[in-house]
Amino acid sequence: MTRFFKCFRGEHKHPKRTCGKPSYRKKGMHEGFQIVHFERRHVRRLSRKVGEVFVPKIGWVRFRWSRAVPEGAKSYRVKRDSAGRWWVSFAHVPASVAGPGTGAAVGIDRGVACSAALSDGAMHSCPKPDGTVKRLQRKLARQQKGSKRRARTRQQLARAYAREANRRKDWAEKLSTSVARNFDLIRVEDLKIKNMVKSAKGTVESPGRNVAAKSGLNREIHRSGWGILGTRLEQKAPGRVEKINPAYTSQRCSACGHVHRKNRQSQALFLCIACGFRCSADVNAARNIRAGHVRRRDKPAGPPAGATAKREYLAA
Ligand SMILES: [Zn+2]
Repeated sequence: MTRFFKCFRGEHKHPKRTCGKPSYRKKGMHEGFQIVHFERRHVRRLSRKVGEVFVPKIGWVRFRWSRAVPEGAKSYRVKRDSAGRWWVSFAHVPASVAGPGTGAAVGIDRGVACSAALSDGAMHSCPKPDGTVKRLQRKLARQQKGSKRRARTRQQLARAYAREANRRKDWAEKLSTSVARNFDLIRVEDLKIKNMVKSAKGTVESPGRNVAAKSGLNREIHRSGWGILGTRLEQKAPGRVEKINPAYTSQRCSACGHVHRKNRQSQALFLCIACGFRCSADVNAARNIRAGHVRRRDKPAGPPAGATAKREYLAA
């Protein structure tokens, strides 16, 4: 069977799951087009804030000049997002961020209470939503389907979602740049976010338990911007990011190495029952990640952490 049909039936598993059955297009989603054979003379700056780009068959189109048009851009894309905003973006691959060259290493623990704890003690939290989305969702639910007012609320809701996503993105961009600039080696847990946010719903025959709680946790995981932080770190510091097996990072004492379930006193506090080391639980985990400890169950050295190792563990 060719790969195309495997993709089509959803059998082919791409690590990033970028492929699958073709789906119908939907109005207002992924609207846009790409123009190749772009040349420098097709764009000009009119003032400090305004620029113009030549779009074939349309002519000169003005846009807000938010940043320099990169040298060597060969194409650009015009798109309209679900919040109704138009964008023009010129394609090029930015240079990576240079490290300090001191050999400094850092561990990052991504959590729910604190989105990202660094092994140097810094705690960074992703901005929390301000409630606009919830308010608009309630409003939308009350409104009559197909009405003009409902359509307007839907538009406002899309804008509110976009705003939340923008805030998370801004946070992740700033944090990843500062980490890539200040440390030469960056260690993060190898999180399987896709698996972690799997639904607890279960099936009709065997309904899951704590479904609401799990879906709430999933929402928090999505909101804390873990995925985007990891992706941007790898892009900005290529070759300097190491993924560590997250097993026992929250139970291991970063001072003496003692591993025990009871070391973790509460969600926030770590207190070692062997040496009395006391620390923020998130920072303790970040230090373990920085050290790169990989403690497996009493097994001979097997394949690295991942799907295979997990299956072995389940079979044992
Ligand atoms: Zn200890």
